[in-house]
Amino acid sequence: MVESLKKILPQKVSTAPTDLEAHGKDESYPIHHPPMAVVYAENLSDIQTALAWTRKHHIPVIPFGAGTSLEGHVVPQGPAISLDVSGLNRVVQIHPEDFMAVVEPGLTRKSLNEALKGTGLFFPVDPGADASLGGMAATNASGTTTVRYGGMRQSVLALQVVLANGEVLELGRGVRKTSAGYNLKDLFIGSEGTLGLITRLTLKLHPLPEHIHTLRVFFDNLTQTAQAAYAVMASGLPVARLELVDGVGIQAINHYLGRSYPEKPALFVEFHSSTHQALEAESSLAIELIQAAGAIRIDPARTQEERTAQWEARHQAYWALVNLFPGKEYLSTDTAVPVSKMPDLVQYSSYLLREMGLKGNILGHVGDGNFHTLVVCEPGDPRAEVFSERLVEHTLALGGTCTGEHGVGLRKKKYLAKEHGPALDWMRQIKRLFDPENLLNPGKIFD
Ligand SMILES: Cc1cc2nc3c(=O)[nH]c(=O)nc-3n(C[C@H](O)[C@H](O)[C@H](O)COP(=O)(O)OP(=O)(O)OC[C@H]3O[C@@H](n4cnc5c(N)ncnc54)[C@H](O)[C@@H]3O)c2cc1C
Repeated sequence: MVESLKKILPQKVSTAPTDLEAHGKDESYPIHHPPMAVVYAENLSDIQTALAWTRKHHIPVIPFGAGTSLEGHVVPQGPAISLDVSGLNRVVQIHPEDFMAVVEPGLTRKSLNEALKGTGLFFPVDPGADASLGGMAATNASGTTTVRYGGMRQSVLALQVVLANGEVLELGRGVRKTSAGYNLKDLFIGSEGTLGLITRLTLKLHPLPEHIHTLRVFFDNLTQTAQAAYAVMASGLPVARLELVDGVGIQAINHYLGRSYPEKPALFVEFHSSTHQALEAESSLAIELIQAAGAIRIDPARTQEERTAQWEARHQAYWALVNLFPGKEYLSTDTAVPVSKMPDLVQYSSYLLREMGLKGNILGHVGDGNFHTLVVCEPGDPRAEVFSERLVEHTLALGGTCTGEHGVGLRKKKYLAKEHGPALDWMRQIKRLFDPENLLNPGKIFD
């Protein structure tokens, strides 16, 4: 059957084992299944041709960007083709006067920022991996600067999408505001490839901040660290980044990068200000709050080199942790709670690791009330899932969500009924409306 696909998309379909393997897994989900074939689309017409083939043969299609997702999003659940859009990677247009860029979905966030050099603008959403912008929209990704600039939902002004039936829709407009009817654009953001293929994005850009100041702050214990983060948020200071890395994370960084940081929990705080005076005022108030919360060491960084050196501990934390526990399996939780409840959830997560006798680490975007617990287990140890279930239960009781940014994929489907109640059935009806034959990434978000 794949031969017929090769015929209609010559030179664009691969069944090479290495390609199949790379498209049947993501960065974390333990189960892999290769797709039947990988289509390397280069334009809209390739996508429409591949979709026509899937309709004719009733073989599902899984959109694929950079494959950095963590919840089994791109893992086939049966015979399926992977539709790789990384070749659609052009910057279509930059409109500096409107703080806007139009891009293709396979372009990565770092490549966009490269292309913006010299414009005085940047695109802030920065998940830890160099993900594709289409994949980031499809998972509603966010990152370290979301506390200030918002995540993908706030950063995408308009989308072009192709539906399962091949129809092309333009959703949203390149404007800061619109009240024109239902917001279908936001429905596709976070839809994980289950409603349509994103083929073009209009993105909101921001002026590069003129004055930046970063603080790396160590505390004696995790509770103080989380409470200090909340104190900074509660003060109303316009923080641009507020990240936590626990003592295990710092220990992993010391091993991985050969550093000698105190192996204590740390906060990374950054301010982006328009004047030097504003910067001084903001960072000195933050220092006061952090000292009152019990900081044992505060390292400021002002130059770009100093900042890069400071942020390495946060940016390299995932890989450092994987390196600290070789041969193990990882489960990264992704809970988010109202920001005042974040210290409670951090404490609960740390207690649960101890109570269950599990190794792990806590790190993340605490300014958004969102953090990750990386649970380290022997392959197949069921306790990682039990940990996740207990943490999500506590999170929902605090008014939070099972996933702040990674999305549902396969692993978090079981939490949605409790989180959404009867609204989940309306989501299923929306899926049926857009994709009645269940051809787009089936088995993700819902069974
Ligand atoms: C070290 C590390 C750190 C990370 N840190 C963060 C973080 O801080 N914040 C965060 O949000 N995530 C983070 N992630 C997860 C991951 O980077 C994001 O989920 C990212 O948005 C996935 O983008 P991708 O291009 O890799 O998508 P893929 O993995 O290729 O796909 C993800 C989903 O989107 C769908 N999809 C892809 N492209 C399209 C398209 N054009 N149209 C429709 N659907 C599409 C796929 O079908 C799939 O369901 C991290 C991952 C790693 C490995």
